[in-house]
Amino acid sequence: MLPNVHTIYLSILLIICSGLPLSAQSGFNADRAFEDLQAQCDLGPRNPNSDGAEAAIQFFSSILGPLADTLHLQNFRMDDPYSTEQLNLTNIVARFQPQKTQRIILCAHWDTRPRAEYDPSAPAQPMIGANDGASGVAILLEIARQLNSDPVNPGIDIILFDGEDYGEPRDLEHYLLGSRYYVDHPFLPMAQRVILLDMVGDAELTIKVDPVSYRSAPQLIEEIWALANDIGYDQFQLVAGASMYDDHVPFIEKGIQAIDIIDFEYPGPANAYWHTHDDTPDKCSAESLEAVGNTLLTWLYQQ
Ligand SMILES: [Zn+2]
Repeated sequence: MLPNVHTIYLSILLIICSGLPLSAQSGFNADRAFEDLQAQCDLGPRNPNSDGAEAAIQFFSSILGPLADTLHLQNFRMDDPYSTEQLNLTNIVARFQPQKTQRIILCAHWDTRPRAEYDPSAPAQPMIGANDGASGVAILLEIARQLNSDPVNPGIDIILFDGEDYGEPRDLEHYLLGSRYYVDHPFLPMAQRVILLDMVGDAELTIKVDPVSYRSAPQLIEEIWALANDIGYDQFQLVAGASMYDDHVPFIEKGIQAIDIIDFEYPGPANAYWHTHDDTPDKCSAESLEAVGNTLLTWLYQQ
């Protein structure tokens, strides 16, 4: 049977209409997410062994404990490569429907850098990390609230990694400390797909595609970018950006599909606020958190 003109018209109308309410459906509260970004920064720098790190673990536990089915503080220690001390590190793992075998990991790093090497005035001082640290976590805390009140089909592990940003420039071995530890000590069942958020709060948000992620999971990238554009978020651009060495890499090395949603142009292509003391909440926005959080949550409800 061939569709008549009326049917064609009706189906076009249905497609348009079904596209409209997407942004309202997920319930993602961007203002509350931005408050969580600000609250993390108010704790001060959150690099390993700092007072801010202690306070941050308490803060994350107080929010995620009542929301998740199980909350694990995965503690581990290692020798500090830059002193004679031991580093105390903690991954925070909030599991939803931990019995399910179909799983997705949503993750971000919660630690901030113990130095701000590109800052012209105080490169040795630890930084506050509003975008590089707090932004991804803020989105995941808000997603946790939504998963608690309105669960999705797959099991979800929200993981906040410690020690992502610890290494000195070019000392790649001492980055990704938490995610490297996690892939060797995972909570089971292990997820089939991993979505990492990093530097997603920039008020001038532009999210290009990390080629490392695209090689790992091209379909996942295309799906999420298309959904963002359908909702109306043109911050997502399906063009190649810089290649990322981030917390998704240890998963890819284990053969797991993993992508990094990251804006590495903060605020523009020169990335001038990155690893400086200009990485502060006033350079970020609730609108940017919404573009990423609402897209991700809407996608989760389609799984
Ligand atoms: Zn960083």
